[in-house]
Amino acid sequence: MTKYQNNLAFARQLDKTDPVKSFRTRFYLPKVNGKPALYFTGNSLGLQPKSTRKFLQEELDDWASLGVEGHLHARRPWLYYHKFSKKALAKLVGAKPSEVVAMNQLTVNLHLMLVSFYRPTKERFKIITEHGAFSSDQYAFESQIKFHGLNPAYALIELKPRDGESTLRTEDILAAIEANKDQLALVIFGGVQYYTGQFFDIGKITMSGHAAGAVVGFDLAHAVGNVVLNLHRDEVDFAVWCNYKYLNSGPGAIAGAFVHESHANRANLPRFSGWWGHDEKERFQMRKGFKPMAGVDGWQLSNVPVLQSAAHLASLQIFEEAGIKMLRRKSEKLTGYLVYLLDQIDPEGKYFRILTPRNPAERGCQLSIFIHQNGRKVFNRLTKAGVIADWREPNVIRVAPVPLYNTFEEVFRFSEILKRSL
Ligand SMILES: *Cc1c(COP(=O)(O)O)cnc(C)c1O
Repeated sequence: MTKYQNNLAFARQLDKTDPVKSFRTRFYLPKVNGKPALYFTGNSLGLQPKSTRKFLQEELDDWASLGVEGHLHARRPWLYYHKFSKKALAKLVGAKPSEVVAMNQLTVNLHLMLVSFYRPTKERFKIITEHGAFSSDQYAFESQIKFHGLNPAYALIELKPRDGESTLRTEDILAAIEANKDQLALVIFGGVQYYTGQFFDIGKITMSGHAAGAVVGFDLAHAVGNVVLNLHRDEVDFAVWCNYKYLNSGPGAIAGAFVHESHANRANLPRFSGWWGHDEKERFQMRKGFKPMAGVDGWQLSNVPVLQSAAHLASLQIFEEAGIKMLRRKSEKLTGYLVYLLDQIDPEGKYFRILTPRNPAERGCQLSIFIHQNGRKVFNRLTKAGVIADWREPNVIRVAPVPLYNTFEEVFRFSEILKRSL
C-alpha cells in the first residue's frame, strides 16, 4: 500500500518516479480555452497517438503509388493485414495469436458470436448477464433471443446488486448461475462494467458457467487495455471488445474478437460467414461451399479496413512497448490516489459516494462518483474548469485516469477542482 499525501509536491514526486511517464509525450493532449485539459475520458475515447498519422500516411502513400498492387506489395500487404495486430492483441487479452482477430465493430462482433454461441434448446435457453449492461449489449441480447422465437421476459436474467449496494457480489453471480443451471445456455458479462467500473471475476464466472453446462462470453469494451486479462487460461469461450476506448485506435475504430482454441476446429459451429473467413489458400478460387479457417479468423466476413487498422497498429505498438502489466501497476496507484483524495474531500460521504469497488482487484482505472445532489451542476463546473469527464444519468460522474497519459498531478488538480465545485 502506498502512503499517499494530499499535496501537489507529493503528486509531482509520484510523477517523477513513474516508470511509464514518458508515454504521455506520445499522445496529443486536448486543450480547453487554450490550456491543456484534464482529460479523464480515455474510457470513452482514448487520445490520439502522435504515431497514428505516420501509420495512416504510409497506407495512403502505398495506395497512391501501388493501387491494387498494394494488396501484395504495400509495406504491410493489405491481404494479410489482420495478421499484423494479432501478437499485440493476444498479449493484451491473454490469448494465443490464433484466438484473436481485429474485425468489424463491437456490436457486430457481439452478434456474430451470439449466432455461434447462443444456441438455445427447449431445455437450455436462458442468458444470465448484469442488470444495466450497456444499451447496445441489451439490444443485442434481446434481439437474439427474439430471433430464436423466445421471449426476453423469461429468457434473459439480469442480475442486480443487493439492496443498498452498488455492485454485484461474485458469490451472488455464482449462486444465480447455479440456481439456473438446468436452463442456462449462456453467461455473458462485461469485463469491466461501463457504469460502475466493477471488474468482474472472469475466471470464477467462467468456471461456474461451465460447471452449469453453459457457454461463457465477455464484452471487454472497458477491460481491454485497462486491466490484465487471461482469456485463454480462464477458458472463456468467446469475447468481444472495441478499440477506441482504452486502446486509442480512433473514433469508430476496428473492433476485436476472441474465440477460445477449444472451438478452433469446430467447422460445423453455425455462423454467419463471408469470404474473409474462408480458408485462405482457396479464398480466391471463389467457389461454392464455405470452408472456415481454423480459429477466430474463420468468423471474419469482409476484407480488412486498412486505414482503420493502421490506426489500430499505431496504438498497439505503444502497448507493446509499455506492457499492460506495467501500465496496470501504475493504474492501481493512480486510481488509488484518486480514491484517497476523494475520501479526504468528503470523509463522511455527505456530498458523494464512490460506486466503484474499493478493492483495486475489482476495478480498472475508472471511478464512478455518485453525487447526492445537483450532480449536473457540479459536472458543469468541472467542465468549465477544464476537466473533460463523463456524465451519466441520473447523477454519476465517471472519471478514468489512464496510466498511459494521465499524471498524479492531474489527479491532484482534479480533486482540488472537485472540492471547489461541490
Ligand atoms: C462502448 C461500448 C459499446 C459500443 O458499441 P459499438 O458497437 O462499438 O458502437 C457497446 N458495449 C459496451 C459494453 C461498451 O462499453
